[in-house]
Amino acid sequence: MLTEEPIRTRFAPSPTGMFHVGSARSALFNWALARQQDEGRFVLRIEDTDAARNKPEWTEGIIQALAWLGISASDPHFEGPYFQSDYAGKHRESAEQLYKQGRAYYCDCTREQVQARRDNPNLGYDGFCRDRGLEPGPGRALRFRVPEGGPTVVDDAIRGRVEFDHASIEDFVIARADGSPLFALANVADDIEMQITHVVRGEEHLSNTPKQQLLWEALGHTPPGWAHLPVIVNEKRQKLSKRRDKVALESYQQEGYLPEAMVNYLMLLGWAPGDDREIMPWAEMEPLFRVSDVNSSSAFFDEKKLRAFNGEYIRGLSVEEFVRRCRPWLDPEVAPWSEENYDEDIFRAVAPLAQSRVAVLGEIVLNVDFLFLDQPVFDEASWTKAMKPGVGAEMLSATLKRFADPELAWEAEELKSALEEVGQARGLKLGKAQAPVRVAVTGRTVGLPLFESLEVLGRDRTRHRIDAALARLNA
Ligand code: GLU
Repeated sequence: MLTEEPIRTRFAPSPTGMFHVGSARSALFNWALARQQDEGRFVLRIEDTDAARNKPEWTEGIIQALAWLGISASDPHFEGPYFQSDYAGKHRESAEQLYKQGRAYYCDCTREQVQARRDNPNLGYDGFCRDRGLEPGPGRALRFRVPEGGPTVVDDAIRGRVEFDHASIEDFVIARADGSPLFALANVADDIEMQITHVVRGEEHLSNTPKQQLLWEALGHTPPGWAHLPVIVNEKRQKLSKRRDKVALESYQQEGYLPEAMVNYLMLLGWAPGDDREIMPWAEMEPLFRVSDVNSSSAFFDEKKLRAFNGEYIRGLSVEEFVRRCRPWLDPEVAPWSEENYDEDIFRAVAPLAQSRVAVLGEIVLNVDFLFLDQPVFDEASWTKAMKPGVGAEMLSATLKRFADPELAWEAEELKSALEEVGQARGLKLGKAQAPVRVAVTGRTVGLPLFESLEVLGRDRTRHRIDAALARLNA
């Protein structure tokens, strides 16, 4: 895909739903290509001609999603957004041009008539109106005259040469009877108007490509470089579907995936930077990306791997940055605690402990809620496991007594030795000895390191919670 002219890629989503992770990948690949040249441009075109399905909020969602991925509208390589609906005049002109050149003709056949003439309904249109010389008029759609003979060969940067026999391409409709263009025409007319040099998009559009290439040529232009990206599949090798799979970029954003981890992971869906490197920041990947290196076989969206990536990226943040990124989840507006109880300094004190444990930022809430709630929320399974009537109660009351000792410095190491002693006196290893205390204080058997947590929580609150758990246990 080397060209002399500056590269102009485009991303042309239809604003008809949530922003799909597959769209995110297409956008990133196009963005990398555009950014590799000083004069390279990434054109955002919103294909908003399906009025029944469009919603302005989806358009807003596209722009926000792109910005989240680092595809910023203020970057000099970014051009647009253009709206397909603004180019209706151009679409009509292109249709007219094709009609005038004899490359398209009017057709008044109904679907039923076409079917009645064919034994095999899969064969498509039979060319009935090709030579009838119909003028434009009500009920007449415009069809493209697919040249007889010869295949159309699509030279795809990922798939190589793909041949489409013209016998298998019907004379397709390019404009409806009301004059409105169909996808193939509007998309090509816009790409021509916007001087697009490379079309990099999902594999589902490969079957449209021979028709579009014919349109490019008929309209008097050299077709762009084509590249059709492999489908993204789930663990059962099924194409990701919005009904079955988590495909909305926003879901990942809400769970607390970092954009840099998401970008890194998405870039690897079909492409690899080489040297077996996988964790690689955008700035390093961008110049290495070559669309011809994209693999044509389907790409597995492995959420476990994405989680692992995200964990690594989280651990790579400075503590201050980690605190900042966690804020949206810690905000009392959305978190389970009140404004009065929340204290960012306390969070900051445990942040390094939490940073090494969470894989997605949203998990932060369950790790620190015990610090900001009046009472811990008891997880019933944890309670049943740790609070065995005899030994559990025994551990709690002995710990309560030990923690009351004013000589005991309230500091993680000291607290650990104290609890170790209490456990040893009852023949319990530290793990077993600390379980009831952990559940009493945090509500769960797993969480942040216990003694650091107790240190931050403070003596009074710790003792109060052990006392309350004892009462619950003995009730
Ligand atoms: N609006 C089309 C889509 O979202 C654009 C396809 C293309 O990239 O050409 O599928």
